[in-house]
Amino acid sequence: MEEKRRGDAAPGSGDRPGRAEKVLRDFVVTIDGPAGSGKSTTASRLASRLGFSYLDTGAMYRAVTLAALERGVDPEDGAAVSRLAESVSIELGGGPEGASVRLDGRDVAREIRGAEVSRFVSPVSRHEGVRRAMVRLQRRAGAGGGVVAEGRDTGSVVFPHAAVRVFLVADAEARAKRREAQLRSMGIVPDIEEIRQNIRSRDEMDSGRAVSPLVRPAGAFLVDTSDISIEEQVSLVEAEVRGEAARLAEAAIMDGERNPAARARPYYRASRALVRALFRGLFGLEIRGGERLRFRENYIFASNHVSYADPPVVGCALDREIWFLAKKELFRNRAFARLIGAYHAIPVDREEIERKTMKRIFSILEGGGSILMFPEGTRSRTGDLRPLKPGLGYTAVSAGVSIAPVYVAGTNDLGRCLLRRRRLRVVIGPPIRIRADRIATDRKSEYRILTAMVASELEMLRDEARN
Ligand code: C5P
Repeated sequence: MEEKRRGDAAPGSGDRPGRAEKVLRDFVVTIDGPAGSGKSTTASRLASRLGFSYLDTGAMYRAVTLAALERGVDPEDGAAVSRLAESVSIELGGGPEGASVRLDGRDVAREIRGAEVSRFVSPVSRHEGVRRAMVRLQRRAGAGGGVVAEGRDTGSVVFPHAAVRVFLVADAEARAKRREAQLRSMGIVPDIEEIRQNIRSRDEMDSGRAVSPLVRPAGAFLVDTSDISIEEQVSLVEAEVRGEAARLAEAAIMDGERNPAARARPYYRASRALVRALFRGLFGLEIRGGERLRFRENYIFASNHVSYADPPVVGCALDREIWFLAKKELFRNRAFARLIGAYHAIPVDREEIERKTMKRIFSILEGGGSILMFPEGTRSRTGDLRPLKPGLGYTAVSAGVSIAPVYVAGTNDLGRCLLRRRRLRVVIGPPIRIRADRIATDRKSEYRILTAMVASELEMLRDEARN
């Protein structure tokens, strides 16, 4: 059988391989999984095959742990360890080998693999402040693309918008054996019973913690590595990554081609321009992140909600025609109902979304339309983010449509925006991709994971909106 060359796109696709390579260069690939599932080897080899850099996020948590142990900071003391995490400098060797880890300039690659660090790394990485500091560094490292990131939460929290998210699993014994071999190769003489114990307790802590637990990100590519060789597992993931690049290259817009997703009817476009100009002129509206959207893709836009002004403000900031949900009561006045109906408001019962409404939502999404949702369910008076409803995850998973998080700031304080004491801002985040074909049987937990991913992304956007 003829072997398919790596990077080949669909037959007869002309210059597509070149386009796929270009698309590939911007990719962030995440590889998550429990201790000893083969993440490090897979991630570093994949990085070298793709010419990407390798981001070992576990090494960063280990470096913080080492710093805490050396300075006598109690790993359980969240405030103290978080302060430490904010103040130390951690640098990872950028190359595909990714071997060097520097803590305040000193190479600690070997020290961080010791038993003492392994014992305390899970308690240290449980603290929210530590995670915030590390996630910030990790996002900075991944900002330009061309990165394979490896860890526990890289696909669910750090890069929920990564082009390909991989989740590796393996049974506990296979993992213990691998860890033993890894330590031996580093010249450390391991105690297998201690390794088993360590794997078990880290599994428990990493999966059970409140902040960023180890979860399989929604739509992740699942690989069970118990019975396959490392070569096979790297090749499987590589094929997936290249396949996705080819698929996205297909979906990318050609030069000079019109963008079907962004096409809006003339009256809609005209009103959008007018409303945008109004909000700009009067309230200083600033729109960021539009370049993160892919033209050909349709989205569920998930926005925070603080004011009645949110739908027009967010709606005018987006480059495409959108539908949004509005509570039924707003349709009582017929003239108003007509007006908002012309701008695609869909009446919903807040207590219980009716079947016919769901049907309408799905038919819009299937027809390539985009929908704006406010997953907090109702306006947040304080401006704090309220817990998100899992209906968002359900809709995205069922329709197989990506979620683009949107943060709107200032609509609850238009007076101050008018006086330019505050900025009216809409920040569009990188879309979180859903692969409907990847969703496992446990759909309910998928919805929850996805909803948590959106919530964490909205928090990041809120920070972005403040700067
Ligand atoms: O991957 P590695 O075994 O080096 O990770 C060490 C520990 O760091 C994990 O057991 C986990 O507690 C923590 N970690 C994490 N989040 C990540 C990567 C690692 O909490 N993204």
